[in-house]
Amino acid sequence: MQRDLNALANNVFDVVIIGGGIYGACAAWEAALRGLSVALVEKDDFGGATSANSLKIIHGGLRYLQHADFKRMRESIHERMVLMRIAPHLVHPLPCVMPTYGHALKGKEVMAVAMFLNDLVGFDRNRLDDPQKRLPAGRVISREECRRLIPGVDENGLTGGALWYDCHVYNSERLLLSFLHAAVKKGAQAANYLPVRGFLQEGNRITGVEVEDAFTGQRFAVRAHLTINNSGPWVNQVLSLKNGRPPQPPVLLSKAMNLVIRRQLVPNYAVGVPSKFEFKDADAILNKGSRLLFLRPWRHVSLIGTTHVAYRGDPENFKIAEQDIQDFVNEFRAAYPAAGLTRDDVSYYYGGLLPMEGVNPRTGDVKLLKQYLLKDHAAEEGLEGLLTVVGVKYTTARDVAQKSIDLALRKLQRPVVKSPSQEQRIHGGEIDRFDAFVAAESRKQPHRLPAEIVRHLIENYGSAYADLFPHLQENPAWASRVHPQTTTIAAEVIHGVREEMAQKLVDVIMRRTELGTAGHPGAEALQQCAELMGRELGWTAERLAAEIAEVNQVFTVAQL
Ligand SMILES: Cc1cc2nc3c(=O)[nH]c(=O)nc-3n(C[C@H](O)[C@H](O)[C@H](O)COP(=O)(O)OP(=O)(O)OC[C@H]3O[C@@H](n4cnc5c(N)ncnc54)[C@H](O)[C@@H]3O)c2cc1C
Repeated sequence: MQRDLNALANNVFDVVIIGGGIYGACAAWEAALRGLSVALVEKDDFGGATSANSLKIIHGGLRYLQHADFKRMRESIHERMVLMRIAPHLVHPLPCVMPTYGHALKGKEVMAVAMFLNDLVGFDRNRLDDPQKRLPAGRVISREECRRLIPGVDENGLTGGALWYDCHVYNSERLLLSFLHAAVKKGAQAANYLPVRGFLQEGNRITGVEVEDAFTGQRFAVRAHLTINNSGPWVNQVLSLKNGRPPQPPVLLSKAMNLVIRRQLVPNYAVGVPSKFEFKDADAILNKGSRLLFLRPWRHVSLIGTTHVAYRGDPENFKIAEQDIQDFVNEFRAAYPAAGLTRDDVSYYYGGLLPMEGVNPRTGDVKLLKQYLLKDHAAEEGLEGLLTVVGVKYTTARDVAQKSIDLALRKLQRPVVKSPSQEQRIHGGEIDRFDAFVAAESRKQPHRLPAEIVRHLIENYGSAYADLFPHLQENPAWASRVHPQTTTIAAEVIHGVREEMAQKLVDVIMRRTELGTAGHPGAEALQQCAELMGRELGWTAERLAAEIAEVNQVFTVAQL
C-alpha cells in the first residue's frame, strides 16, 4: 500500500471515496472487487476516528428484540458470520452473560424467550467449517451459575441469568487495514493525510474532489464519475463544501464513550449489568435511566461501555473530558460495586460521535439512529455524481458497502453483478481453522520467532503475517520486541512505514500495531518505535521528540 499522489491526480476513477473509516474501507474493497476503479482519500490516518473507538463487539443485535426488529437482527447476525468467514484471523466468538431479576421484563422467563428467538433468527449462524467459530445456543442459567460467572453480582431479586454468544474483533484497526489492503491489491488507490477541501462540479454533476496534501499544502483534483461521501461524523461539514451550507436537516450527532480498564474485571465473559443511575439532565453523559452497561474482557484488559449524550459541536473539537470519565466510573461502581473500580484502573478511553435521531424530550435519552442512511443526491436535490453514506455500527459496514456499491453500479450504468464480498476472504484471512493454523505456524517458528510472537502476529495480521518476513530477512534484529513487556516486534514498525503508509509515530502506536490501543505503551517502547521510524523516514532529533509528544498527547485527558 503506497501513498501515490500522482496516481490520484492523473487518473479519472469510477469512484472516489471520502473517508478512510471502516465504512470507507469496506466501500473501497466492495467497489474494487466488483471491477470499479477506486480512489480513497482520508483526511487524517485510516481508521483514526470513530472506527478506532468501538467496544469491538461484532453484534448480532440481541437488543433489537426489544423492538421486535427481526430484519435488523437478521442483518447483524448474518454480518457477524460473514466477518468470521472473511476475516477469521480477527473476528472471534465472545460469550456474554447477563443477570435476570424478578419475573417481569428483566426476568428469567422473558430472557428464555429472547434466547430462543435469538437462536431462531440466527438459525444458520454456524454455517462455517471452523469449530473455533461455533456459536452455541443461548440459554438461561441458574442463580448459582450467574453468581459464579459474575462474582459479586447484585443478588437483590436475582433469579438467574441469560448466557448467549456474540463476536468481537481482536483488533478493529487491523480489520479496517485488512479491507484496505484487499482493496489496494485489487487496484484501488488510497491515501491518508489528504483532506477533501471541495467538490469539483460541472453543471449539476459532481466530478470529483479537490484534496490537499496535509504535509505540503499542495492542492490537486481527484476526478471520478461518482463520489461517495463516507466521512462519518464529518458528513455535514463535507456536504457543506458543495455550497457553503450544511445539509437541511443536518445529521445529528451523539457523543459515545467506553473506558479501558487495566485489569480483567470478569475474565472470559462479556457481562451486561443494569445501571443504577436515574436520568438527570439532557446534557450530562450519564443520562439513560436503566441502560445496560457492558463490561467485556479484551486482550489483557477490560472494556466498559457505552455512554451516549447529544453533541452539538464541531466534530473537530470533540473531546472526552476528565469529568466524563469520572462520571462513568461512578456509574459503573454503583452498578457493579464488587469490581471495586476506581479512576486509577482506567488506562485509556474510547470516544466517538455517532449519528442520532434526536433526544427523547421526556427522558433525555439519546435516540441513536437505527438504520444506516444511503442518499443519492440526484434523487434528493438533482445533483448527479454524489452519494452519501452514514453508518450506525462497525458490524454492518460491509453490508452497507455492498448496498452502496450496488447503487453506484446502477448510477454508473454498469451491470449489477452479484457481490462476492460475503465469501471472499480479505487480506490475511486465508485461514481455514484458526486454532490449527496458529498451532501449525507456531511449530514452524518462521525466522525463529517464538510461539508467543507467532500467535501475536497471527492475531493481528492473520495469514498475512508472512508480509513481515521480507523485513526479517533484511534485518534479523527486527524480530526483537520493541519492549521486553510487549509482543510487538520491530518488523511491525518497519512494515507499517514501508507498506501501510504510517506517516507519524501515532499511526504506528495506535493503528498499525496494537501497542497503544489499550493504554500508554511506556516511554521506552515509544522511544524505540520512534527511532526505528526515524531511521526509515530521516527524522531529525526535533521531529522525533515532536512525534513522541504527539503520542503522549493522545493519552492526556482534557480537564474541561
Ligand atoms: C464508543 C463507541 C462504541 C461503539 N461500539 C461499537 C460496537 O461494539 N460494535 C459496533 O458494531 N459498532 C460500534 N460503534 C459504532 C462504530 O464504531 C461506527 O459505526 C463506525 O466506526 C463508523 O465508521 P465510519 O467509517 O462511518 O466513521 P469514521 O471511522 O469516523 O470514519 C470517517 C472518516 O472520514 C474522514 N473524513 C472526514 N472528513 C473528511 C474529509 N474532508 N476528507 C477526507 N476524509 C475525511 C475522517 O477522518 C474519518 O477517518 C461504536 C462507536 C462508538 C463511538
